[in-house]
Amino acid sequence: MQINADLHVHSSYSTDSLITPKELVFYAKKRGLTAVAVTDHNQIEGSCKIANETDFLVIPGMEVSSADGHIVALNIQDLIPKGFSARETVDRIHKAGGIAIAVHPYAWFKGSLNTHVADAKFDAVETLNASAFPFNHCKKKAGEIAQKLNLPCVGGTDAHYGPTIGCGYTVIESEPNIDSIVKAIVNGKCQPFGKQVPLNLSLERQYRLIKRRIIGAQ
Ligand SMILES: [Zn+2]
Ligand SMILES: [Zn+2]
Repeated sequence: MQINADLHVHSSYSTDSLITPKELVFYAKKRGLTAVAVTDHNQIEGSCKIANETDFLVIPGMEVSSADGHIVALNIQDLIPKGFSARETVDRIHKAGGIAIAVHPYAWFKGSLNTHVADAKFDAVETLNASAFPFNHCKKKAGEIAQKLNLPCVGGTDAHYGPTIGCGYTVIESEPNIDSIVKAIVNGKCQPFGKQVPLNLSLERQYRLIKRRIIGAQ
């Protein structure tokens, strides 16, 4: 069957995200998604907790700050430590039973891998990241490196604000379970779709983050 999955969503367990577990499921369903990967920065507990506590199909994962740039690990239960090289990080993800995605490899201001994508045995490249800047440049460059390395392409939002969930997503030809989904990605039975996060939603998120910092309100 066809799975529509946003493979890059930060929950409120990431300090820079406003998305509570409840909101995450609400917006994922509202956007017609079948699955969501929760990929908080350098931590795994929140992701596993949400995956266990909701009836929605949540793929546990995390976004690792490697020494060479950001890497998303999907289908893992254990913390992958930050600060190692891309090659070492990807090896650790594989040993933990997960798959490694080179996310937003050419985005500015995001801790991107750039040419380090070629250093390690990635399973896929995130060629569409709805929050990447400059959007079209990032999409084009990421598409080129994926093609050069002959790697599957995926899409995600890099969502930090509920209403943006589903701006970027991946259509996957698989059964609705985690093992089948990651296997299908590795085998290239996937395609990225979506568009850039609309400006008004980016601004709304900034406004709410500032408000929370000043008065502690959501
Ligand atoms: Zn990132
Ligand atoms: Zn991210």
